[in-house]
Amino acid sequence: MLSARTCRGIKQGGERCSAPPLREGDFCFWHDPEHQAEAADARRLGGLRRRREGTLQGAYDLDGLDTVAGIRRLLEVALVDLVGLENSVARSRALISGVLAAAKLLEVGEHEERLAAIKATLGPRFVKKDSRR
Ligand SMILES: [Zn+2]
Repeated sequence: MLSARTCRGIKQGGERCSAPPLREGDFCFWHDPEHQAEAADARRLGGLRRRREGTLQGAYDLDGLDTVAGIRRLLEVALVDLVGLENSVARSRALISGVLAAAKLLEVGEHEERLAAIKATLGPRFVKKDSRR
C-alpha cells in the first residue's frame, strides 16, 4: 500500500498542506524550514516570470497556443523578428521552417473551418452520432 504521508505545513488560507513531504522530513519543499530561503527564491522568481509573461503577452498581443489564431500570432512575431535580422544561412533556414509551420497552420485552420461547416449542416444528427461513441 502507498503511504499517505502528507506535509505538516499549513497553507496561507489556514488549511493543512496536502503535498507529499520530502523523503526524510515532515514537510514538503515549500514548507520545510530548512528550505525556507530556496522556497522564497523560487516563489519570487515564479512571480517575476509570470509578470514578465503577462507583459510580453500584452506587448505582442499573444493569446496562448491553444488556438490556430494564437499559434499563428506567435509565428508572425517570430518571423517578423527574423526578417529584420542580417541575412545568413541560419536566418534563411529559420525563415523556411517558419513558413512551413505557417503553411501547416493554414491547412489545419482550413480543416477546422470545413469541419465547423459540416457540423453546422448536419446539425443535431452529427452531434447525436458523435456522442454515441
Ligand atoms: Zn507543504
